[in-house]
Amino acid sequence: DQPVLKVNNLQTYFTSDAGVVKAVDGVSFEVSKGETLGIVGESGSGKSVTSLSIMRLLKDTPGRIADGEILYEGRDLVKISENDMRKIRGNDIAMIFQEPMTSLNPVFKIGRQLEEAIILHLKFSKKEARERSIEMLTSVGISRPEKIVHEFPHQLSGGMRQRVMIAMAMACNPKVLIADEPTTALDVTIQAQILDLMRNLTKTTDTAILLITHDLGVVAEMCDRVVVMYGGRAVEESDVLSIFANPKHPYTQGLLASIPKIGERLDRLQSIPGNVPIPSRMPEGCKFAPRCPHAMDICWEKEPEYKEVITNHSVRCWLHEEVPQDESELVGSTQ
Ligand code: SF4
Ligand code: MG
Repeated sequence: DQPVLKVNNLQTYFTSDAGVVKAVDGVSFEVSKGETLGIVGESGSGKSVTSLSIMRLLKDTPGRIADGEILYEGRDLVKISENDMRKIRGNDIAMIFQEPMTSLNPVFKIGRQLEEAIILHLKFSKKEARERSIEMLTSVGISRPEKIVHEFPHQLSGGMRQRVMIAMAMACNPKVLIADEPTTALDVTIQAQILDLMRNLTKTTDTAILLITHDLGVVAEMCDRVVVMYGGRAVEESDVLSIFANPKHPYTQGLLASIPKIGERLDRLQSIPGNVPIPSRMPEGCKFAPRCPHAMDICWEKEPEYKEVITNHSVRCWLHEEVPQDESELVGSTQ
């Protein structure tokens, strides 16, 4: 299948008093129709900045896309005008967040918000938009949509709000749905229901999903392939079975060793010693070296490249690359 979204060497930088921070520094992946791609990493890995870059929603941050391509059906979203981007955002590429309250407007009723989104993107009449709203609320498992449209966001439970957000995101039949930690704020039972719902919706619509999460349990349940991010880089990518059966990057191995048991909830991954590096103080070589049980001299000096080591399995680690023989070779090679 042709990829519907293809990200090539994305670089997103933030400028602060401390200088330029490379929040995303060389991330590449693609996702095809009907496919769910997981983007996994701890907070601070750059996964949310990656999704905001795709949506070009960095405006309220000091961030900017410094380099790379974001190809949506062949068009580079980095280069198109804000006006063209507005037509794509919400319409072709929709996004749902961890906390729906940040994207639902607290002062308007659910029905009005849904209808306005539908009218804006699909040019429906008011009556058609009302019908489509009810239809979408039904499709996300809301049993009395005629009642819900008259309620305000704060009158709904967290799980119901997330259903409404999904209804809103799916109302315009997006080709790509970006879901950033869509179930993290919900309790375990509701979390399972929402994941079920997303799976069913995309099965019937062929939407490509970019699922951003720190939870490998969610990845195992939902994703076809997975990209593991660390320190703003993609460090490993493969299909889900290969990642779980044969993780090649020491960071991925650490993540897998730290999967909480069913019912247990962790806000951070406990069993990998050390912390995610502060972007302004990244190590010179491999960003994972300070936490890596296998770090060698070369790891501190030079960053490994991101390479496909076997078919459909890429990794960024010196353990899977030929290490240069001497210093001259090291200096002579460029990144
Ligand atoms: Fe560990 Fe070296 Fe591989 Fe980095 S490159 S993950 S430090 S072995
Ligand atoms: Mg995040």
